[in-house]
Amino acid sequence: MTQNNEMGWNFDNSYARLPELFFESTEPTPVRSPELVIFNKSLANSLGLDAQKLQREEGVEVLAGNQIPEAALPISQAYAGHQFGNFTMLGDGRAVLLGEQTTSSGERFDIQLKGSGRTPFSRGGDGRATLGPMLREYIISEAMHALRIPTNRSLSVVTTGEPVIRETELPGAVLTRVAASHLRIGTFEYVANWGTREELRILADYAIKRHFPDIEDNEDRYLSLFEELVKRQAELIVKWQLVGFIHGVMNTDNMTISGETIDYGPCAFMDEYDPATVFSSIDVQGRYAYQNQPAIGQWNLARFAETLLPLFHENQDHAVELAQEALAKFKELYHRHWLEGMREKLGIQNEEDQDESLIENLLNIMEDHRADFTNTFRALTLDKPEDTAMNGTLEFTEWYNQWQARLARQEKSKTSAYQLMKNSNPAVIPRNHRVEEALEAAVEKGDYSVMERLMDVLANPYAYSPEQEEYTKLPEPSNQPYRTFCGT
Ligand code: AMP
Ligand code: MG
Repeated sequence: MTQNNEMGWNFDNSYARLPELFFESTEPTPVRSPELVIFNKSLANSLGLDAQKLQREEGVEVLAGNQIPEAALPISQAYAGHQFGNFTMLGDGRAVLLGEQTTSSGERFDIQLKGSGRTPFSRGGDGRATLGPMLREYIISEAMHALRIPTNRSLSVVTTGEPVIRETELPGAVLTRVAASHLRIGTFEYVANWGTREELRILADYAIKRHFPDIEDNEDRYLSLFEELVKRQAELIVKWQLVGFIHGVMNTDNMTISGETIDYGPCAFMDEYDPATVFSSIDVQGRYAYQNQPAIGQWNLARFAETLLPLFHENQDHAVELAQEALAKFKELYHRHWLEGMREKLGIQNEEDQDESLIENLLNIMEDHRADFTNTFRALTLDKPEDTAMNGTLEFTEWYNQWQARLARQEKSKTSAYQLMKNSNPAVIPRNHRVEEALEAAVEKGDYSVMERLMDVLANPYAYSPEQEEYTKLPEPSNQPYRTFCGT
């Protein structure tokens, strides 16, 4: 224990007060020579932390796991999950939760060190993380936040000065992850399988208190919990679809109860519009392809419902009926939000029955012409249809005229339509070749300036600023498709 209070740490440990089954006390394993390589000042400030002091040696010792701040109570959390459809026991194998930072406004955020050494859940793993993937998580999670998509955040990355053995030796790193909580569907699967009904009830009450306080007094609050998560996950996945984000590993242990995006291993943004796009090298069946994300979201929610059945009703059959009824709303909710979001992407501010076919037509033409997803909507936003890959084709010209006629059929002006589009279509996303370029400079040469410039541009994706132009360019054509790997 050190005197870390002057850094602004203000920990509570509500999760560690839950039944013992839910976690294991676990200290991070100290590292040889921690060095801070990237730090999120604005996030630190919003958490009530002293950004100056945290960046000094004493602060970095904490971010590396070498010192435990006062009142932190490090644990690794137990959870299970369906990985590519198969149920398995997991748990934090390379992460510890230091505690919950509570802000002056009463908000509570999990502070977790990822890559902090072995835990009782490590199985054969070394508990460590390597620099490249931790920087990648930092870049993409912060880009997601700027895109207004619920996500865990990244406070810092510290290199450890220790090599990590993978296929080759790689530099080790620790990421500090900030999340509304780390409760997952997999946490419920774990307790439902290995805990008592009472422990399950305690977990559900905890999740409600932490993430859905409005339903605390509902008579059927466990069913309400399920209904609320159906809503949140539907909204979240719509947001992914609207920017072309492919999560890549939508296992139930990677689906949060808070409705935040978590686990930035094999994720990537789609370039050319192709609904079957998959980036993850291990997803050979395409289970987590772009077009499958909504259905997988619903599948994951079904696993969540199964864990809650004993709390829904004592009569099992009736409990199943209640669950099915609530789960069936996912499709409709998803569709409604998707249509709303797509209308906004096209500047449409009222509703017509044909809107959906107008949208589908565009997507089909984009698919046929391998049009870049982000840049197509950007070009339409800038009223430069000539910049799209579909320009000059009969079907696109026809579509464009229909769309313009559609915009003329609403009361709001064209200017306001284009304003809405600007606010709905990011000018920039973390393009794969740009992310790779930033990681290469950082990891190979210790040059973080490329990453910092990229982060600056990604911080305001709806700005349409001149500096962003350069970052909208596509990579050189390649015959190798882009591949991602699970964060190891
Ligand atoms: P992920 O693919 O990051 O969702 O991780 C899946 C599971 O493997 C989780 O239980 C992780 O904690 C665990 N895991 C991943 N990498 C390691 C590692 N290097 N050492 C120990 N456990 C790990
Ligand atoms: Mg995970």
